[in-house]
Amino acid sequence: MTVKAYGAHAADKPLEAMDITRRAPGRHDVQIDIAFCGVCHSDLHTVRAEWAGTLYPCVPGHEIVGRVSKVGAHVDKYKVGDLVGVGCMVDSCRHCADCEDGLENYCDGMVGTYNGATPDAPGHTLGGYSEQIVVHERYVLRVNHPEEQLAAVAPLLCAGITTYSPLRHWKAGPGKTVGIVGIGGLGHMGVKLARAMGAHVVAFTTSESKRRDAEALGAHEVVVSKDPAAMAARARTLDLIVNTVAAPHDLDAYLNLLKRDGTMVLVGAPATPHPSPQVFKLIAKRRALAGSMIGGIPETQEMLDFCAEHGIVADIEMIRADEINAAYERMLAGDVKYRFVIDSATLAAA
Ligand code: NAP
Ligand code: ZN
Ligand code: ZN
Repeated sequence: MTVKAYGAHAADKPLEAMDITRRAPGRHDVQIDIAFCGVCHSDLHTVRAEWAGTLYPCVPGHEIVGRVSKVGAHVDKYKVGDLVGVGCMVDSCRHCADCEDGLENYCDGMVGTYNGATPDAPGHTLGGYSEQIVVHERYVLRVNHPEEQLAAVAPLLCAGITTYSPLRHWKAGPGKTVGIVGIGGLGHMGVKLARAMGAHVVAFTTSESKRRDAEALGAHEVVVSKDPAAMAARARTLDLIVNTVAAPHDLDAYLNLLKRDGTMVLVGAPATPHPSPQVFKLIAKRRALAGSMIGGIPETQEMLDFCAEHGIVADIEMIRADEINAAYERMLAGDVKYRFVIDSATLAAA
């Protein structure tokens, strides 16, 4: 079936309206009419080929919410009309140790929602900047938030799970002091989630203008990282740092802030490497530097349920599909509070 989408034909071309084909739902497939799709910085990295291996045409989008419009004969988890979400993956090998542990995000055969291998035309997956998507039921999530919050739920599918997973894995909670670095799409969710988990939350931003916002999002303290005195005052005070920054920067400035046995988890994925961290910063206090990639399907459902229970959604700015190129420029300028979400109804007119 042919549906409207928005994507790019080359790294140096703007995104434009295009028609794409979706497969007819197979026995275990769920067909979803997309209502909204969040705009992740990874969409921009990919569509502009800042990371290696982008295939064109490239239709980004992996923060998808919508309503089930058709199901295959063997689908038992979902029925027509259900509110559902799709995040960063649409398939995996389903039988390796990672898949069996519900950590499909670490499966070598994980298929990304866009730019992943698929037998479907055109040979790679096309993402959520489109009217419709067809996904195996195993990779579909249930949305339990009230329907009027649906647009603001979309960013949970990537920004939410990517911060929730390391916060849970490294046990953010009461008695722990957690730093969130970079108050963008991921970071603003990290602040909300760490706060809801009961941690003492310190937000680190390069933008003085985000100070009051970060407090409103739930940060107990806000540090403008360009202020060396403010940074020095936080030395050896944090148990955990989740670093969401999308550009290379000096990691030592943050490693310094960890207590003994503290961990900094990198989730930001800049296109070029960070300057190498200073080994002495790590060995002096037995500190760890780690990474984390999105989250598995069961944990993503757990995160959605946690957010529904705690009334957590993203702070969003809704855009039309034809505003996406301008939105990318604003994202690069740090001018989004805090996630753009495409209203998929505008694809028909685009
Ligand atoms: P975003 O909305 O653009 O936020 C990034 C934030 O980083 C900015 O708001 C800014 O915060 C800070 N920042 C940007 N450039 C900076 C610089 N040069 N120096 C210092 N701080 C800077 O992006 P996002 O959607 O949250 O994504 C963040 C990164 O995570 C991207 O690289 C993305 O690809 C990656 N990502 C990774 C995963 C994963 O699974 N690990 C999943 C999703 C996304 P302040 O203004 O507060 O400083
Ligand atoms: Zn993402
Ligand atoms: Zn697997």
